[in-house]
Amino acid sequence: MAIRTGKQFLEDLKKDGREIWLDGELVKDVTTHPAFKGAAEQVAKLFDLQHEFPEIMTTTSSETGERFGITHLIPRSKEDIKRIRKAMKIWAEASVGLMGRSPDYMNVTFACFAGHADVWARRGNEQGAQNLINYQKYVRDNDLIMTHSIINPQVDRSVSEAEQGGGEISLHKVGETEDSIIVRGARMLATLTPFADELTVYPGSDIRLQDKKYAICFAVPMNTPGLKFICRDSYSKDRNNFDYPLSSRFDEMDAVVIFDDVHVPKDRVFMDGDTIGYSEVIGEGYWRNYIILQAMNRALTKLEFAFGLGHMIADTTGVNTFDHVQEKLGEIWNMMEMTRAGVIAAEEGAFEVGGKGVWAPNDQPLLALRGLMPKWIPRATELLKIIGGGGFMLTPTSKDLDGPLSAEIAKYYQARNADAEKRIRLFRLGWDFIGSDLAGRGDLYERFYLSDSFRMTALNYKVADKTHPEMLVKQFLQEPVKQLQPTK
Ligand SMILES: Cc1cc2nc3c(=O)[nH]c(=O)nc-3n(C[C@H](O)[C@H](O)[C@H](O)COP(=O)(O)OP(=O)(O)OC[C@H]3O[C@@H](n4cnc5c(N)ncnc54)[C@H](O)[C@@H]3O)c2cc1C
Repeated sequence: MAIRTGKQFLEDLKKDGREIWLDGELVKDVTTHPAFKGAAEQVAKLFDLQHEFPEIMTTTSSETGERFGITHLIPRSKEDIKRIRKAMKIWAEASVGLMGRSPDYMNVTFACFAGHADVWARRGNEQGAQNLINYQKYVRDNDLIMTHSIINPQVDRSVSEAEQGGGEISLHKVGETEDSIIVRGARMLATLTPFADELTVYPGSDIRLQDKKYAICFAVPMNTPGLKFICRDSYSKDRNNFDYPLSSRFDEMDAVVIFDDVHVPKDRVFMDGDTIGYSEVIGEGYWRNYIILQAMNRALTKLEFAFGLGHMIADTTGVNTFDHVQEKLGEIWNMMEMTRAGVIAAEEGAFEVGGKGVWAPNDQPLLALRGLMPKWIPRATELLKIIGGGGFMLTPTSKDLDGPLSAEIAKYYQARNADAEKRIRLFRLGWDFIGSDLAGRGDLYERFYLSDSFRMTALNYKVADKTHPEMLVKQFLQEPVKQLQPTK
């Protein structure tokens, strides 16, 4: 199958019959439901962008001769990594960085897993690794969207996941037939559940050596019997594009996943019981190199948007004439340009992994940015609040604008370079970015979407190469001071 259009995506989604629960209701059709319609249309747009920019967003398969989305490509050169990033930027800009789980997030994950399948094949798991390679080709050639659910629910984080709730809560294997394994339990979150085609499960946290039944990795279609998804509140329901320009479009939705004795076909199982492999595939499989490039490319877009928004708000009310406001806009610009620099450094520092022909971005600048971003993006929104002030409260709705007070609104809501409607649109857009419930979710997302950023930063310290920094210090702990070798 060639790449899908947005229309095909929506048609496929309509007839899929997955079990999505929202506010006590079983949702029949996510493409028409008010809570999901807006985001479904935005995801459809992502498919259309592949047709609009085929040279950037797609490439031709040497195996099938068909075009496929380039974010599925297993990179075999630095140039490939740059091509993939260019396509990811187009998708990131489509949601100004608000849809963190645009399909490229998972596409690069599985391209990485398939490209480094040798790490999965260890300790006799050749079949699991082959299943993974086949699966990656399947989603690539059918242009499917994946979501993932890799963290077990928060019951008691002070004990192992296998010990939570008598061992029954965390996802685990409970049986096996000739053709399938049977899994039960829950996973904490899966974003994009109303729109994805496939649910994937792979390692997301540490596991004890003895907890074999919890060490499972697989993929199933979203409408697999026994799968249930319970959504959080919708942030887009009953919201129009004027009043909530971002929430009405980009609520990608997060849901708890319940596995009620789900049968997973054996050819879709990538790992079963290898607790050592469970840690290795993430730790040694270069996953972070790829996934954080996607994430920081998206964060760059979000900061670019924040800078544009701050500038336009300040210009509208004339506060950009004040030096302290300029300094705050400059601070957003600093974060934006440092992010761009880190992303380019990761691309330029790409390397071939172990002489096997597969390339990976340099993870060092990416890991550093991953630690900084949960501070930078909330800081950018804080700065926007300071720049916009009470203007974010001067935000009547579209109904007000068309109501009996429309003439007063036209007069009293004008700004120095914008009529009332333009100014209200701008500040409503700003509020949806910094203060709405979608904005609050965005803040939480930046902290926790890729495990917890605090522990990841602590890990940066633990794994950092300390040799040269130590040498710089040690040279003064002896006499005479020794000249060090020049470094980069
Ligand atoms: C908006 C959003 C979308 C998400 N989407 C997805 C998704 O699509 N798929 C998916 O799999 N997951 C998703 N996640 C879940 C995400 O993977 C988890 O939130 C993340 O792994 C952190 O785990 P937690 O939320 O359970 O926090 P916890 O692990 O419970 O942490 C809570 C606090 O306790 C601290 N803490 C916990 N354990 C320790 C420890 N051992 N040592 C020190 N401190 C500790 C943490 O630092 C943190 O401050 C999403 C999360 C959010 C917020």
